[in-house]
Amino acid sequence: MRIAVIGTGYVGLVAGTCFAESGNSVTCVDIDEKKVQRLLAGHIPIYEPGLEEILKRNVGDGRLGFTTEYEDAIPDAEVVFIAVGTPPGEDGSADLSYVLAAARGIARNMTGYLVVVDKSTVPVGTARKVQAALAENTKHPFDVVSNPEFLKEGAAIDDFMKPDRVVIGSDSKQAAELMDELYGPFVRTGNPIIHMDVESAELTKYAANAMLATRISFMNEISNLCIRLGANVDAVRRGIGSDARIGSKFLFAGLGYGGSCFPKDVKAVVQTAADAGYDFKIIQAVEQVNELQKGLVAELVKKHYGDDLTGKRFAVWGLSFKPNTDDMREAPSLVVIRSLLDAGAKITAFDPEAVDECKEHYLGDEIDYATTPMEALEDATALILITEWNEFRRPDFDRVKEMLADPVIFDGRNIYSRGRLEDRGYTYYGIGT
Ligand code: NAD
Repeated sequence: MRIAVIGTGYVGLVAGTCFAESGNSVTCVDIDEKKVQRLLAGHIPIYEPGLEEILKRNVGDGRLGFTTEYEDAIPDAEVVFIAVGTPPGEDGSADLSYVLAAARGIARNMTGYLVVVDKSTVPVGTARKVQAALAENTKHPFDVVSNPEFLKEGAAIDDFMKPDRVVIGSDSKQAAELMDELYGPFVRTGNPIIHMDVESAELTKYAANAMLATRISFMNEISNLCIRLGANVDAVRRGIGSDARIGSKFLFAGLGYGGSCFPKDVKAVVQTAADAGYDFKIIQAVEQVNELQKGLVAELVKKHYGDDLTGKRFAVWGLSFKPNTDDMREAPSLVVIRSLLDAGAKITAFDPEAVDECKEHYLGDEIDYATTPMEALEDATALILITEWNEFRRPDFDRVKEMLADPVIFDGRNIYSRGRLEDRGYTYYGIGT
């Protein structure tokens, strides 16, 4: 099949690459000239495990290309995926300007029947708006399909190649059949392609993210209760996760959710509900809990060292919002570090992949960066673990202790054992443990 993908971010690039990998001919369009130039030169603009190898193979085999021009991609395409960003607008609702600009660009360049697929996360009603934007700019026939994406950064290739399910919202038989054909190779083990109306498909994506965010905030509240009651959230997690009705995933207490999806999608659900005249109480609380949770480690540091941190330097391990990605959007690390800087502290941070991103787009030279975890400990008072990259799980604690001025560890993700660290003479702070 001939496919165009609009937007080469985490979703567009992965989707385009995986569709090419399954034998389709794919052209990815992005208005960011620098990004496209880098892709054409063989540089992958994001860190996503496994992506580079598959992408290069498909470019080499002539199935995957990149351009800034809609006219290079749309006229030949049978199906076009819109995978541009939908950041929160001022009131928290999703900003659809990129999606609608993409729809206009598609309409102006299409040459016959086309299936236009919303893959971006968009509020209910967006497919209708995309339909209107297309109709205003073309006389050719088209169908608009909603096909929300559920991939996780850090495991995106696997999630895309072997999705738990594919959701297709469409009122056109022709378009639905084309989507079945396209996704057939990805669901050969029997995972379902679930067909539904467009509005339900649009809401499914928000409901999924809102549910996952709810689990995180729920467990973070349980962890706050644990601290007050002398219980251990890790034991409680194991105790409830073994109940099949609850399940063991997404039950880890920590510094709250971040990233480009949960924060903005939760905000969008609040706003969508308000626009529909519904006061969605749970999801508002989920957001409030998350905001408080992000600041928790900085509070623990101040509880230990006092509010004035002048003259202290902290080693921070982990900057990205979660492991296996360089994505720093809404990362809890930013909240923690800002709070410590405001209190007069200095920071040396290490992250396996996100240092460049942090330097370029977030904290610049407000903090120092190390090239190894151990280097971050030089001159540090104490260690703060923010992102649970695997390489932080089993450090040489004797060496860590020698390097720190104080043997204190603030573990924002509960990856270390309090007992073992206390036995080695550390003071340990976890989240609800
Ligand atoms: P991103 O910000 O990484 O990438 C978006 C890309 O679109 C950018 O490269 C930008 O230059 C490009 N773009 C913007 N306007 C354009 C236009 N008119 N024409 C061509 N290109 C244009 O975004 P992302 O993280 O890939 O997310 C895309 C969508 O997918 C969002 O709606 C997001 O909520 C959703 N989503 C993201 C994830 C994730 O893990 N990142 C998962 C599922 C769904």
